[in-house]
Amino acid sequence: MVQNEQSLRIAIQKGGRLSEKTLNLLENVGLEFDSYKNRILVPCRNYDVELLLIRDDDIPEYVQDGICELGFVGHNVTAEAKADVTALRGLGFGKCRLSVAVPKNNGIHSLKDLDGCRIATSYPVLTREHFARQGLSIKTIEISGAVEIAPTLNVADAITDIVSTGGTLKTNGLIELETILESEAQLICTNKAIPAHKQELIDKILMRIGARQQAEKSRYIMMNAPADKVDALCQIIPSLKSPTVLPLAENNMVAIHSVIPTGRFWEVMEELKDAGATGIVILPIENMIV
Ligand code: ATP
Ligand code: ZN
Repeated sequence: MVQNEQSLRIAIQKGGRLSEKTLNLLENVGLEFDSYKNRILVPCRNYDVELLLIRDDDIPEYVQDGICELGFVGHNVTAEAKADVTALRGLGFGKCRLSVAVPKNNGIHSLKDLDGCRIATSYPVLTREHFARQGLSIKTIEISGAVEIAPTLNVADAITDIVSTGGTLKTNGLIELETILESEAQLICTNKAIPAHKQELIDKILMRIGARQQAEKSRYIMMNAPADKVDALCQIIPSLKSPTVLPLAENNMVAIHSVIPTGRFWEVMEELKDAGATGIVILPIENMIV
């Protein structure tokens, strides 16, 4: 496909925690790309789209300024940048939180104990805001990496940093005091004017991402059962719509097909079995439009 000024441009992280999942998601919604290796702009083979591969910190501003119409980036990064963009959708990956952490056993039990202290962080804007909201004044020491070592080096009394499991904090003798912000990867969109043909593509991508997310939340379930057990079985299935019930060749037996939430499928399966279902099969769903 020929690329031109009119291509919908999507910013994604070049090489980092969000890159692989973002590229997988784009491919899963039907966008095909050539090799990403050593490239900054990657054309899409089957749509008038191009990817801009950059550092995640630059994504909110590129989208804000309309250089890219869309961006895939952590909410933490957009929030710190105070970017004027619209978050279209949370993507369910890259989950983490921005937390205040302090050295263990040093008598700091609440945020108030940090009044007047030095806080090392890569998130000075969100950090200052958070302390200011509680009427506390602090001095932020801006560090771009390995923030967790700052208290040991006596560069700071506490830190704020991105945490997912908390393992890094523990290794460095730190404990979490409180959460400033919960985050996940988001699809963000520019607030600048978007030409109609690009908006159409954005709507299509958004609809497909939605179908994908809906499918991930659901499983397709099939089972056989005696016809007189159908009512009892249907009560168990927390279906979006009423289940499909099909007669089987075997006398008084039916097949029941339905959709159930992924998170409940073990419970549902056991309950169905106890209520007389046999041959229960549960399948993943590729895409789902409700
Ligand atoms: P870049 O080189 O693009 O600036 P980076 O080092 O700033 O990359 P990564 O470490 O790749 O960023 O993290 C990207 C995003 O992944 C974070 O901004 C955050 O939204 C999310 N994330 C999820 N879990 C974690 C974690 N444990 N530590 C850091 N980021 C995490
Ligand atoms: Zn970054």
